[in-house]
Amino acid sequence: MTSSFVSLSRSRKDVRVRGSVLARTSQTANRTRKSLYLPAFSIVAVAVTLIGIGWSSKWGGSSFSQSMTSLRVVVVGPATLIVLGAFLVIERLRPAQRRSLFARGYRQDVLFTLLNATLVVPLGTALALSFSEVARRVAPWVVIPRTSVVPKWVVIALIMIAMDACNWFAHLANHRVRVLWRFHELHHSQEDMSVLTVFRTHPLIHVSYLLALVPGIVLLANGAVPTAMLVLYAAVVAFEHSNTNFGFGALERIFVSPNYHRIHHRIEGRQDVNLGFALTIWDQLFHRAVFPTEHTVRMATGLPGRPLAVEQAGEKPHHLRVFVAQLVGPFRPLGEGSGHVATSPVAGATGREDEETVAW
Ligand SMILES: [Zn+2]
Ligand SMILES: [Zn+2]
Repeated sequence: MTSSFVSLSRSRKDVRVRGSVLARTSQTANRTRKSLYLPAFSIVAVAVTLIGIGWSSKWGGSSFSQSMTSLRVVVVGPATLIVLGAFLVIERLRPAQRRSLFARGYRQDVLFTLLNATLVVPLGTALALSFSEVARRVAPWVVIPRTSVVPKWVVIALIMIAMDACNWFAHLANHRVRVLWRFHELHHSQEDMSVLTVFRTHPLIHVSYLLALVPGIVLLANGAVPTAMLVLYAAVVAFEHSNTNFGFGALERIFVSPNYHRIHHRIEGRQDVNLGFALTIWDQLFHRAVFPTEHTVRMATGLPGRPLAVEQAGEKPHHLRVFVAQLVGPFRPLGEGSGHVATSPVAGATGREDEETVAW
């Protein structure tokens, strides 16, 4: 009797203890949810898993250091630096908006340039080699066997065009999928755009742009894009971020100009337009092209309501503190304006005269 009473009271106590443990666990989970945006960790998980597979398979037999050197040449090699320097001069000669050479945004983007030159190059190499290895293992049939029918230059042109299309779709996903937008909004937060804004990206957003490697994997047996072509591609993408009053006239129906891309960064109106990296044809194909006018050249850029820390806020820029806040930004909890995904539809018509575009 005594022992069964003891065991009954013990089991009641156990239930109470378990109940309070469960309540505490759920409170902790709620607190975690409120202090962190947990879906952002899924991008970290994808990156870590990919790199783990790549590392354990010795990068699919590729030389890590050689691949890293090639990527470094594209990102911050001598040719890229000379081109960036030339663009910085053109920005002074023909600015879209007059501002100091030492504007806060410029100084902040120097930090992102250094981040790209140091951390992003090895990270990008690891991700690219790992993704290629996984793609070759999972879908070996995507690799088109070697053929001599198609000239090599045609293969290279095809890879470049298809790569640009993949970048367009990945960029669209960055604007449509909240967890990706959380990483992409940093790029849109720049209020003092310059050629260095091309580097203002979260290191982990490169996970979404791995899609652009697919054309190169498919056609690898028939030709690889020379590094010089990739430097040229990077230069085009850098130039379109420059603070230059530059349109391409009729050629804008094919190529992205600074005046065209600035519309993508505008603070007012839809930002999920003009998503093209080098070519405007994808925007036109999917009714997302907004061509520049006199009015759009000098428009303000950035994010409405500044949901992410920016160097322009406050009396002092606090570059390093803001830099850290920008990098951990995707993991901050959802709050007022912080979950913004730039998808609000605006009806209108495409074309040079009309600034709006047809909703998708
Ligand atoms: Zn964007
Ligand atoms: Zn941009």
